[in-house]
Amino acid sequence: MTAPIDVAPGVLVLTSRTMCTTSTVVHDGKRALLVDPAWHADELEGIADLLTARDLRVELGWATHAHHDHLLWHPRFGPAPRLATPSAAATARAQLTEIRTALAPTLPAELRALAGQVQELDGAQLPWSGPVAEVVVHHGHSPGHGALWLPEVRVLLAGDMLSETEIPLCAETGIDAYVRGLERLAPYVARAQVLVPGHGSPAYADNQDSPMARLAADRTYLDALAAGTGEQDPRLRDAPDWLLAEHEANAASR
Ligand SMILES: [Zn+2]
Repeated sequence: MTAPIDVAPGVLVLTSRTMCTTSTVVHDGKRALLVDPAWHADELEGIADLLTARDLRVELGWATHAHHDHLLWHPRFGPAPRLATPSAAATARAQLTEIRTALAPTLPAELRALAGQVQELDGAQLPWSGPVAEVVVHHGHSPGHGALWLPEVRVLLAGDMLSETEIPLCAETGIDAYVRGLERLAPYVARAQVLVPGHGSPAYADNQDSPMARLAADRTYLDALAAGTGEQDPRLRDAPDWLLAEHEANAASR
């Protein structure tokens, strides 16, 4: 896991050694909101160590969507409620066995047993006493994908969208839902100082690789897919086999 980066005041991002999976800590110096903590046991311990070192108490957990790498937890994070959107929570409940099985190669039984324990939040704002976090729900990539918008610092925690390393992964909910999901996120992307994807690096508004550049890249890929191409996307150059397979699945379903 990489050293934590303070991407904005009160927003810490750590990156796993597997698939550049990001974990985000939103805090006010005392209370913490833990978003998608991931992935390996030592990395989850590292997040717990960071929370201890910074004297942060986890008040709430948030899972952006019901994929196994976004539903993890560690006993040292404590008993805080863990929430997801209603569709994501229902999916996690329905697929709990598959989620925990997918984690079997990487996590011990004690941590697998904590995976997927999320309750539904049917609301537009997270119920906690720290910085305001608005829920932006759509069905691109996964049902009830819940991005978080932090208006005070203009940070968008995008979940598995808008990555500089992964093309749009549309297989589960379809290309049309993905396009609608991107458009749901677009006004927040336009205002974002920082965009944190679920896999990849944070994008900053004053960099060339900005939140808007990420949005443009995904729109270009999806437009090319509709036109029957898309292979030219730079993210597919030297890509791992699983990502090439995702592109082929996208192309086959258009
Ligand atoms: Zn995902």
